[in-house]
Amino acid sequence: MKMRNSSRSRKRNEKKVSHVLKFVMPGDRIGYAEEFLAGEGVYEEGGELFAAVAGYAVLSNKTVSVKPVKELPQILRGDVVLGRVVDVRNSMALVEITRKKGLDRDLMHTGIAALHVSNVQNGYLKDINSAIGYMDIIKARVIDEEKLTLSTKEPEMGVLKSICSVCRHELVRDGNVLRCPNCGNVEKRKISKSYGKGEW
Ligand SMILES: [Zn+2]
Repeated sequence: MKMRNSSRSRKRNEKKVSHVLKFVMPGDRIGYAEEFLAGEGVYEEGGELFAAVAGYAVLSNKTVSVKPVKELPQILRGDVVLGRVVDVRNSMALVEITRKKGLDRDLMHTGIAALHVSNVQNGYLKDINSAIGYMDIIKARVIDEEKLTLSTKEPEMGVLKSICSVCRHELVRDGNVLRCPNCGNVEKRKISKSYGKGEW
């Protein structure tokens, strides 16, 4: 989808006009790299620009950025959260947060947080797909409450539950990898110390 500069009668004070384009969720495509520069809260992948955070996409000059809105007022920096991976791209995974450690009930509002490839584990990780899988249940620490970004670098953080990408059976831990007891498929993950223990 192409973004239009929705300037109707703004021409007069053209110095620093910002146009609010639309509300976006993390992972929403907001344009092409050949049209706009990626500003705050925006990342580029394959020539396309995507929102890294939930908020309002704003176009200022040729730069598109996303002004974050906090969807989860109960979530603070440093909190430990539980969530389900709803999308995995080359450089980031999107996680729907459902629980917060220390809170007995589910959160009143769920929200989509972002786990960037650089925050998955200590040391270089080339492709997030070798550490985080679609539909995984993960435990993570909130490192930025405004942008809702997560980290799974600590040993306790990472994947708690995962299903086989081949046959959908639940995977069991086998040393540093996960193995499917049904079809024998082996998958790599950033595994939490609590994997498969039914606790977090
Ligand atoms: Zn399997």
